[in-house]
Amino acid sequence: MKYLDEFRDKTLAEPLLAELQRAVTKPFRVMEVCGTHTMSIFRSGMRSLLPEGLDLVSGPGCPVCVTSASHIDAIIAMAQMENTRIALFGDLFRVPGSENRSLANASSQGAHVDIVYSAMDSLELARKYPDDLIIFLGVGFETTTPGIAATIMAAHNQQIDNFAVFSTHKVMPPPLIALLDDPELQIDGLLCPGHVSAIIGASAFQPLVDKYNLSCVVGGFEPSDILQALILLARQIAKGEPKIENAYTRVVSWESNARATKMVEEIFEPADMEWRGLGMIPASGLTIRDKYAHFDVTKRLDIKLKPAKEPKGCRCGEILKGKEQPTACPLFGKRCTPANPIGPCMVSSEGTCAAFYKYGE
Ligand code: SF4
Repeated sequence: MKYLDEFRDKTLAEPLLAELQRAVTKPFRVMEVCGTHTMSIFRSGMRSLLPEGLDLVSGPGCPVCVTSASHIDAIIAMAQMENTRIALFGDLFRVPGSENRSLANASSQGAHVDIVYSAMDSLELARKYPDDLIIFLGVGFETTTPGIAATIMAAHNQQIDNFAVFSTHKVMPPPLIALLDDPELQIDGLLCPGHVSAIIGASAFQPLVDKYNLSCVVGGFEPSDILQALILLARQIAKGEPKIENAYTRVVSWESNARATKMVEEIFEPADMEWRGLGMIPASGLTIRDKYAHFDVTKRLDIKLKPAKEPKGCRCGEILKGKEQPTACPLFGKRCTPANPIGPCMVSSEGTCAAFYKYGE
């Protein structure tokens, strides 16, 4: 297999599905951590083909979904200050904070909000609007952070003064440890995120095997990648021999990506971070080091987070913890749809509610 089309080919997926049928010898539950996995599983229609007894639940790996309402409130407040412009990736534009307010609302009321395709585009904005402070909303996991670190480094080296970052960056696996410490969460295996693992290495999940006896397999994102990872998980669980396996060797190594890790460590340091639905989790985020404090908007503008209100009736918190499916939410498909989202899990293109709504079971 060399090209993406092959990984989506039904004739190649069929033998993998048959092998998965054989490998599932008892009921088990797997959490897919990454939002890209969630969307690929739904888009391919795989759920309806999975063997009886194999239950998939989504986890907290959609970066937009886990961005807390208090962070959204804070960036809206920054957007409404004099001489500021917010730069962000497009999928954050409609994410609701308190009172269902979003940057889209702020923009319609005159705030300057620019959607960018790369953090580096923010530096272009900084040159274009020298009288404004360009604030980049940093959201994402280890896959995104090296690009933001490189942008801060470039701003530092080029002495671009009117640029800063609001870092809400998060890391794996601390949220998984927080979830697994909750006895209510009953899972037997983890489909580990391929993109994040490309940076942190498959070995980063070893503590989950050691502490929770959890079967862990790193998987890619095409249907055949996911089926292969599920086969390995089923075999481990059938044998009762939890370990880490890597089913995404064309991208992921056992060890971390040293170059990316070094760049991130130069700019960022670990910090406690608030997650939507999961609350404050120790050392689960990244803050900008004092050496680069000039690029940390929380220090530059003395920003303090305030308690926020979640959208009334929204069950995103329980869905992100793998405890409920979107259909358990009374608003699903009625008041909450992709055209009129109430919670972040319906806004994001990787959100579980959006996937359920678009593709169904
Ligand atoms: S359907 Fe909408 S309101 Fe319900 S949990 Fe999902 S995002 Fe929240």
